[in-house]
Amino acid sequence: EAEDLVLHVVIITVPCPGHLIPASQMAKHLLSLGMKVSCFNTGINYPSVERHFEEKFGEVKIVFRPLRKENEFVPPGKRLEEHLDWIQHLNDEAMAERLAEALRNLTPPPACIISDMLVGWSQDVANAFHIPRFLLYTMPANALLYMITSSTSLVSPAVAPKRPPDIWKSMVDPTSSINDYLHRNARRFCEAAMILVNTVEDLEAGLLDLMRTELIGKPNVKLEKLLPIGPLIRSYGGEICSDNSVSHNQEDTSCAEIFRWLDTQEDSSVLYVSFGTLVTVNESQAHELAHGLEQSGTPFLWVYRPPEVCQVLPMDASVQDSLLDGLPTGFMERIEGRGRLITQWAPQQLILSHRSVGGFMSHCGWNSTLEALWAGKPIVAWPCAIDQELTARYLVDDIKLAVEVHKNDDGLVESAEVARAISLLMDENTGSGIRSWFVKMQQLAHKAIGEGGSSKTNLKTLVDRLKSHLKTLP
Ligand code: UDP
Repeated sequence: EAEDLVLHVVIITVPCPGHLIPASQMAKHLLSLGMKVSCFNTGINYPSVERHFEEKFGEVKIVFRPLRKENEFVPPGKRLEEHLDWIQHLNDEAMAERLAEALRNLTPPPACIISDMLVGWSQDVANAFHIPRFLLYTMPANALLYMITSSTSLVSPAVAPKRPPDIWKSMVDPTSSINDYLHRNARRFCEAAMILVNTVEDLEAGLLDLMRTELIGKPNVKLEKLLPIGPLIRSYGGEICSDNSVSHNQEDTSCAEIFRWLDTQEDSSVLYVSFGTLVTVNESQAHELAHGLEQSGTPFLWVYRPPEVCQVLPMDASVQDSLLDGLPTGFMERIEGRGRLITQWAPQQLILSHRSVGGFMSHCGWNSTLEALWAGKPIVAWPCAIDQELTARYLVDDIKLAVEVHKNDDGLVESAEVARAISLLMDENTGSGIRSWFVKMQQLAHKAIGEGGSSKTNLKTLVDRLKSHLKTLP
């Protein structure tokens, strides 16, 4: 009987926190439903990153095994472009061969592949093994539609919502290999059996329906379903993360002093400032931001790290000193008592859920946005790359849950603008208007993964699909 067979699911992702975190939450869910799960990452990265994202589900450790060979570590200190270069370090065929080799060694043989949006070549592996591939899309439906319409002719541009046409071009050099890589992956989205989007039906219902109508059943589209299954964030479904996965990392104890400080602050008074793991703030921008934070008069907690991607380990004292040297003279003294810097990996979700945090100045990475929604904290939107720009447009224009900062002609956000946006967000009147909306959105996010909620039901649909596939196997 198929019911007695163990469903073996393979998850494959890329070694960036914004992709590893949702993938590991997905793994936990499948484990909680009694499946066997094997996780891989494309693996051209530091081992420290892998260790940082190891989590446990009961006795089972969720480890993303790298598909790299010996000596394929990348040196630290790389920027976004180089980082994406590593992901596509090997050609698609070579990566597919490595994954296939790994799959041949698994028992029982895998029943399906759940793969990240940046691992399009895994479709070839799924085809070769005659198993379905499910795409785990780690950005909002908004960005999914944008990527599909920019890369294929599957959705008529006439029906797609209008966005500034130059968003993509302004953020990704059209002649770059990254541009090619993104399009190449997007062209394979609709070959998947299902697209699982890390979003909530009620947040993006119109766009999701539009895509369903435009895509499903069309020639060249294998897609059976488009299912929002989010928010897949670390605190997702407390009942599942019984070991409190957020706090098992060393990061939390090393930030104890920060939490003691937060405890002394008034409710909803502190602004949390962070730009995720890939965006870097250059020195002149850091100066403007520092001055703006000072001028705003608002208590703040600023995650300020060197321009290295995935910097998850505590940094050397010398690196930290030179980082602080880059800030305005006397800044640290002047903000004493009112502002704090975090120069290491921050326990972001714990911080966002602290009662004294009242707002989040964010680059609008999708995971950060979901975490803010989850915690009910309104946003100052400071987007820096394509999907972030789309998310900012959605937050500011469509659902009006964020205040936006404007860049000057040189692309710099000036200190007065920083202070203006902060005051607008944290101000009792305007801020509380947005805040009460945020509470409504927060409730939607929580409802989605609760009993009978849309995301929970969709995960069940996925599992039923997997079980029915298993019955067809010899
Ligand atoms: N994050 C964190 N501590 C940090 C920086 C980032 O916990 O110091 C987490 C953050 O909570 C989020 C993820 O890393 O879950 C970043 O993903 P996001 O999509 O927001 O941005 P990206 O880094 O991919 O641009």
